[in-house]
Amino acid sequence: MCGQEGLWFHIDGAYGAVGVLDPAVEPFYRGMEAADSLALDPHKWLSVPVECGCVLVRDAQLLRDTFSLVPVYLRTEPDKGFGGLPWFSEYGFQQTRGFRALKLWLTLAGAGREGLTEIIMRHNRLAALLRDKIAADPEMDLMAAGHLSVVCFRLRPMGIADDQLDAMNKGIVDRIQSEGECFLTSTVIGGRFALRASILHYETTEEDLDVLLNAVRRGALAVG
Ligand SMILES: *Cc1c(COP(=O)(O)O)cnc(C)c1O
Repeated sequence: MCGQEGLWFHIDGAYGAVGVLDPAVEPFYRGMEAADSLALDPHKWLSVPVECGCVLVRDAQLLRDTFSLVPVYLRTEPDKGFGGLPWFSEYGFQQTRGFRALKLWLTLAGAGREGLTEIIMRHNRLAALLRDKIAADPEMDLMAAGHLSVVCFRLRPMGIADDQLDAMNKGIVDRIQSEGECFLTSTVIGGRFALRASILHYETTEEDLDVLLNAVRRGALAVG
């Protein structure tokens, strides 16, 4: 559609783009290769230390045409002095910049495509397992079941009125975040408060899923 209408096709793949490495979900990414630009955050699923945001732009010349503003005192000539290389300041807002790319390069070089694929496949498998554990628990609701490593759910203990569930689950997030044993965030789905587990750490194991679910279950005791 973007092609037909002459529109720029941008994909926000901040979290999800690298999921394409997992053959089990790769078909869902069909069309990604047609993007004009793709944002991705190596500080999420690639475990690069915060922060390291990234944008890939198909036609680098367009980027340069947009941003390049080289004052006379910074002008260089190709093949003279340190001239000739692409100056990254011509491709974005920033003039002076740190070498953030180094930590990303080290991660790519250290893990390789195979190592990263292995981690991402494992995370997606763990998320599927977490969804199964939640679905099998009569006191939990699975609220969003996607294909990647984020799982949204809530605790719904027997005997708790529906109108108390949001407040109870909010209390669970507050307690888990301050306890520090595991970490959860939250969101709202269809107007209902949801716990949001995001499996992104390279050392996360199945055992950690049980630690998390047990920490959530303790919320029922606190209310009961
Ligand atoms: C994290 C995220 C962002 C924000 O990225 P920052 O690097 O935190 O600014 C935007 N879009 C999606 C889909 C994200 O997951």
